[in-house]
This record gives sequence, structure tokens and C-alpha cells, in this order.
Amino acid sequence: MGQFAVIGLGRFGSATSLELMRLGHSVLGVDADSRVIDQMADRLTRAAIADVTDRDALAELGLPEYDVVLVAIGEDLQASLVCTVHLKALGVKVLWVKASSRAHHLILAKLGANRIIHPEDEMGIRIAQVLSYPMVNDYISLGNGDFVVEIEASAQLDGRTLGDALTTDPPGAIHALAVKRKGETTVHPTDQFVVRTKDTLILFGPLHYLKNAAPKLR
Ligand code: ADP
Repeated sequence: MGQFAVIGLGRFGSATSLELMRLGHSVLGVDADSRVIDQMADRLTRAAIADVTDRDALAELGLPEYDVVLVAIGEDLQASLVCTVHLKALGVKVLWVKASSRAHHLILAKLGANRIIHPEDEMGIRIAQVLSYPMVNDYISLGNGDFVVEIEASAQLDGRTLGDALTTDPPGAIHALAVKRKGETTVHPTDQFVVRTKDTLILFGPLHYLKNAAPKLR
């Protein structure tokens, strides 16, 4: 279980905090707006009202104890930058900051943010990829062109074996990691595994091979 602090509980900060809680982590949420804190307080491990441009107020929150501190203030550029400077000075271990423009990104990089996030850009790219491969429910990029994708098996695949459905040239480029069927998961299914319509196939391989295989799996 990780310990996370999220500073700024706007749309992005609150969605991130609630998902971290759902995944079983501990989350401190901080915002200057008492109405926002009232709404979020009983859904987070801890919530605090503070103006994060105030160094003394920040120091009281014990932020260097947290695994990652995420600054999720997008609109108020000055508040985001001043808060970042203070958090670095306080010795926060890992600092992630949301950026709202290229200039914002550039300054955050100079201030030593460990990761700078552009949610709109990242989401836009993701949506475009999902739109262009509608058969893919979800995917994770592992770098170097390797992906894990989740595909729902079509009626066309019903009764065929995985070995038959996943033929590649050269063979073995795509690995089936798991198949989910009505709440039951078969981990590392063999080539002889018989696929049924609506099975969820979780596959690993280079994007190039997955792209060629995906239309055949529909
Ligand atoms: P989003 O686009 O994700 O909704 P916003 O930038 O609109 O993000 O919201 C950021 C949140 O950060 C708001 O809830 C706001 O109250 C909070 N916030 C802004 N400035 C400060 C500050 N100086 N100290 C603490 N919280 C702040």
C-alpha cells in the first residue's frame, strides 16, 4: 500500500485521489477551499485545508513522509510553481506535477519535478488510439513497442483454439497472458484453450503483431 498526497482537489486531483483510494492506498488530500474539503473529507484517508503557497502551512502537513506528492493545480500557474518550490525545499521524495502549458512544463522541469503530467494531451492520445482500434478495450504500453492489450473475442472466434487464433509469422510473437470468462480468470492459457464469444483475452506482444492479429480476433 502506498502513501500519496494530492494537492489541489479539482476534477483531476479528486479523480486521482478517489482512484488511489479504490486501489487500496492511503491518500492525503489538500485544498484551500473548505467546500471542496467538506465534500472529499470522508472519502479520503486524511484531508486538510491549507493554502499551499504558504510554506509554514505546507511544512505542517508532513509531506516528506509520503511516497509521492502530486500537485494537481492546473489553472493557477503561480500557486502551482510556488508550491513546487516549497515542496522541493521541504525534501519531498518524489514530486509529480500537473502542467497546463509548455511554459509551465519548462519551469517545472527546471524546478526539479520528477514527473510532469499533461492530462489533456495524454488522454487525447489515448482516446485517439482506442478510437482507431475499437476492438481493444484497454491497453498498457510497456515501452519499446511492447503492449499488453485487452480484446473481447467475437463470435467468429467461438470454438477456435488460442493457438489457432494467435498465429503469427514468425510464430510465438504474441503471448496470451490470461482469459477472463464470466468472472473467472484462466492465467497462462495453453495453445489448446478453446475461446468462446465474449471471452476477454489479455495479450502481450509487440504492437506490430498485435495490430495484425486484432482484426482476426474480431
Ligand atoms: P482541474 O482543472 O483539475 O479542476 P483546477 O486547477 O481547476 O484543476 O483546480 C485546482 C484545485 O486546487 C481547486 O480545488 C483549488 O481550490 C485548489 N487550489 C488552487 N490554489 C490553491 C492554493 N494556493 N492552495 C491550495 N489549493 C489550491
